[in-house]
Amino acid sequence: MIPVEDALARVTAAVEPLETELVSLSEGLDRVLAEDLHARVTQPPCPVSSMDGYAVRSVDLAKPPVTLTMVGEVAAGGRHDEALAAGQTVRIFTGAPLPPDADAVVIQEDVTAEGTRVTFPEPVAAGRFVRPAGLDFKAGELGLPAGRRLSPRDIGLAAAMNVPWLTVHRRPRIAVLSTGDELVLPGTAPGPSEIVASNGFSLSAFVRLCGAQPLHLGIAEDSPEALRSRLEAARGADLLVTSGGASVGKHDIVGSVLESLGMELDFWRIAMRPGKPLMFGRMGALPVLGLPGNPVSSLVCAELFLKPAIDIMRGCRDEPHRTRRATLAGGLAANDRRQDYLRARLREENGQLLAEPFERQDSAMLAVLAEADCLIVRPPHAPAAEAGEPVDILPLSGCFPAG
Ligand code: AMP
Ligand code: MG
Repeated sequence: MIPVEDALARVTAAVEPLETELVSLSEGLDRVLAEDLHARVTQPPCPVSSMDGYAVRSVDLAKPPVTLTMVGEVAAGGRHDEALAAGQTVRIFTGAPLPPDADAVVIQEDVTAEGTRVTFPEPVAAGRFVRPAGLDFKAGELGLPAGRRLSPRDIGLAAAMNVPWLTVHRRPRIAVLSTGDELVLPGTAPGPSEIVASNGFSLSAFVRLCGAQPLHLGIAEDSPEALRSRLEAARGADLLVTSGGASVGKHDIVGSVLESLGMELDFWRIAMRPGKPLMFGRMGALPVLGLPGNPVSSLVCAELFLKPAIDIMRGCRDEPHRTRRATLAGGLAANDRRQDYLRARLREENGQLLAEPFERQDSAMLAVLAEADCLIVRPPHAPAAEAGEPVDILPLSGCFPAG
């Protein structure tokens, strides 16, 4: 049994960022930039008004009240090319360019207008309600760095920077194969000793949540022939995930069948709970992650090993620090030599993040996992802990507070 950290280091060392492709802005959400993105325009391109009001020369209002003559009107998209002379004002609307020599805007609520005569009761500071050219960004400036996972805010920024196409890494294609003679598809009538298969669905959904493309290979029976024929379909994937059949029982043949097909085993069995029978290897260029069949184990292992592998393949650069601190809301027994990942609920109380472990931690209990927000990480040989003590947690993907 190797430690979790070693196993993770081996998995992440075996994968690389995938090649790049061009996608349009509307396809960019959650993709990862492969190149730095620079502004192609200056925004705003010239000084513009941030309010509806009157463009003035601030010196003209030095001794209020002052009445100026309105000599024109300018809205967003329009222009007023003549310079503002002493005693003049121009009606202006939000987003409109300032007339030359105007240096401030007085909002319409603060003036009295009668025809073209506009009276200003107060002075105004130069620059008031004016967005100078380049306030947001200037042409050539770095907007978004390579490695950035694009949020809706980033997409907006890229669009504003006049960049219609994004160079991103290709989405990883992850083949997901379930194994087990006992498994039937959801929606069929299971026989007395049959189990409704869930891993293929949960893992495919997880792959999608991680920004990759799942390829659901269905269920293979526990026979070398069935496995081999299903594995054919994994060609073209960037990583193969199997579930089940990785333990030491007579029917656990996934490892031996993969090896007969040329897989080089990297490691098998790690010092963690749930998920001890995790297996990792390479079949030619294809990395293979063999997850345990227990539904909770398979998803916990996906969280710990599959997500970081996908992140590297899709081009994320900074390795995020995934664990955070919380306060225990219930007692825990001393741990043995395997690193434990306990399902727990999170809640905030008086500004404190509380992690409350579930009483039952069986690795077959999906109902508990579905209610969990995080995993409490218990290092090997951790002593018993009481409510109120600090503890490391790994927020589950898609849950509070991981987002
Ligand atoms: P295995 O790793 O094949 O020994 O499976 C361990 C446990 O997980 C057994 O109880 C299986 O029935 C169960 N199991 C395996 N694969 C799945 C699956 N795809 N969906 C739900 N349960 C599964
Ligand atoms: Mg099995």
